Amino acid sequence: MAERTLRGARLGGQSFEDERGIEFAARQQVGYRCPQGHEFEITMSVEADVPAVWECPRCGGEGLSVSGIQPEVKAEKPARTHWDMLLERRSEKELEDILKERLQLLRDGEIGPAHLHRVNQKKRKATA
Ligand SMILES: [Zn+2]
Repeated sequence: MAERTLRGARLGGQSFEDERGIEFAARQQVGYRCPQGHEFEITMSVEADVPAVWECPRCGGEGLSVSGIQPEVKAEKPARTHWDMLLERRSEKELEDILKERLQLLRDGEIGPAHLHRVNQKKRKATA
């Protein structure tokens, strides 16, 4: 029984004679073409983030991916402003409601500079 299992495993592994015991990650061939017209392929893991450019092994030029992967344009993504971040949390309608609420509190003397607080004014009068 044990012998048959071993023989089976050996037969199955025959075609990978030189790679016995080594598990290879799935690979892919990525093609590039440089400005001089040299075409070359690079073997990469299928999990690799395929670069849009690769240095040409013949002339050192910038080989561009022939599968149409575009180089990243870095300046394209503008930095998020405080306003952008605020809008991710609240809609403009919500912000308007909050503003109205705060303005009302300010007018009522509930918030704002301390000397404008109604509460303080009352206290001042009371102590005077
Ligand atoms: Zn080249």
